[in-house]
Amino acid sequence: MKTNVLGIQFDNLTREEARQAGGELLRGSDFHYVVTPNPEFLLAAEKDLEFQKILNRADLVLPDGIGVVYSAKILGTPLKERVAGFDFACDMLEELNEMGGRLYLLGAKPGVAEEAAARIVEKHPKIVICGTHDGYFQESDPVAREVAAAQPDLLFVCLGAPKQEKWIARFGLLTGAKLAIGLGGALDVFAG
Ligand code: UDP
Repeated sequence: MKTNVLGIQFDNLTREEARQAGGELLRGSDFHYVVTPNPEFLLAAEKDLEFQKILNRADLVLPDGIGVVYSAKILGTPLKERVAGFDFACDMLEELNEMGGRLYLLGAKPGVAEEAAARIVEKHPKIVICGTHDGYFQESDPVAREVAAAQPDLLFVCLGAPKQEKWIARFGLLTGAKLAIGLGGALDVFAG
């Protein structure tokens, strides 16, 4: 069941429930994507209907900001809890590690994704880093082909919103990933 907050249909899940749902998508055979809107997303989506549609078509829409959770409460349709994009990403890495799966990191300034990859593998040694690419490219098609050639199960797209969600909507299927997640500045955090 979805919970509407200012035009965005959120999944009303605990972090643990989101982890289970994401884990199933990751182990499935088709492409899926997850978005993690915070209050800035909601403001942007009010003025950008393409962005709004992309958010609402996601397989999981998780409330990243506490502001989203407060808004839902005030609107009389409370959400169970905040599910931060970064926490969800950490949970998907644990799932991927259990699977011995493949991870591609796309986004951030040159060198950051490689640094993040090294940190992730230290913690999750069974994950295979199948590729990285910085987020400052001109042409998306070659990047999508590079990602596809690397055959990832899990793809983090960290280009900032709404760029990352638009990229996922346009190129996600081409990448052949099982699960793509738009994660903003997460690679900078993983890189430390
Ligand atoms: N970024 C990128 N390509 C761009 C613009 C931004 O890779 O064309 C990266 C930026 O380096 C940062 C990330 O996107 O790592 C998210 O930026 P921001 O902090 O603005 O996003 P938020 O986490 O607030 O959504």
